[in-house]
Amino acid sequence: MVAMTVPEPVAAATAGDIPGARHLHSGKVRDLYELAGGSLLMVASDRVSAYDFVLTPEIPDKGTILTRMSLWWFDQLRDLVPHHVLSTDVPAEVAGRAVVCERLEMFPVECVARGYLAGSGLLDYQATGAVCGIELPAGLLEGSRLPEPLFTPATKADLGEHDENVDYAAVAETVGGDVAAELRTLTLAVYAKAEEIARERDIIVADTKLEFGRRGDSTIVLADEVLTPDSSRFWPAGSWRPGRAQPSYDKQYVRDWLTQESGWDKASGGPPPPLPAAVVAKTRSTYVEAFERLTGEAFE
Ligand code: ATP
Ligand code: MG
Repeated sequence: MVAMTVPEPVAAATAGDIPGARHLHSGKVRDLYELAGGSLLMVASDRVSAYDFVLTPEIPDKGTILTRMSLWWFDQLRDLVPHHVLSTDVPAEVAGRAVVCERLEMFPVECVARGYLAGSGLLDYQATGAVCGIELPAGLLEGSRLPEPLFTPATKADLGEHDENVDYAAVAETVGGDVAAELRTLTLAVYAKAEEIARERDIIVADTKLEFGRRGDSTIVLADEVLTPDSSRFWPAGSWRPGRAQPSYDKQYVRDWLTQESGWDKASGGPPPPLPAAVVAKTRSTYVEAFERLTGEAFE
């Protein structure tokens, strides 16, 4: 009999020591450190999560691919909104997959823009005919293009909790009316620009989640990661067909393997099995393909 090792869900993820940096926080995928002088080091690991579990093994190069993609987008969006990246000169341990960024006071709002119906937006619509309190026409399907892009904010959940969709009034109550209006305007402007750029490369940005923070002088700044497959739904435009789940450049392939092929009983609450090498390789190549299609740069 083969000894079985059951992977543990990584709650406090495995951030390594980095000389000169003080570990602040680890999410499922990213690790945050403080540097001397007060700026932050945001490290994208190669971890991949699905259904709120951090999976094993890691996806080689994922952190680098997503970091490069985020940097590329920050640059594309620079005329619309200032961003938090100060430098890509980072410690050797995390070369290529980390950025130095200015420490902001983050708004406790996940700023989501949706141009298409999917995920929690689809579930809201099916249950209520509205998304985040915004009424939509009847008859929309999974993957349908919305009449116009929507700002569909969510609260930032505490560790282990799911983000919760909220209406605009709830955001205004949390951050004040003026800031709420600015967050909505910025989110929709970023989405519109990203959607247009991606479309030229045959990629649909179905939705995206942004995070903003505030400088001491109260300037609003785009933070976190932007327009990566971990924060957005990217669909190949050529195979878009409303009325079903869309093929996607994110970890959908991993999710499908887990639920359809791995034999994992999701309802059991137990951790998923390790990903086979072929699933890891296919997932990696999907991320590489998204990066290359979008940016026009070769990854290797
Ligand atoms: P999860 O999958 O649990 O969301 P993650 O791997 O995405 O985890 P987070 O826990 O989201 O990692 O860690 C990134 C944190 O850094 C977020 O809380 C985000 O709000 C915060 N953050 C991003 N940019 C800045 C910034 N410029 N200043 C301060 N905090 C920031
Ligand atoms: Mg996060």
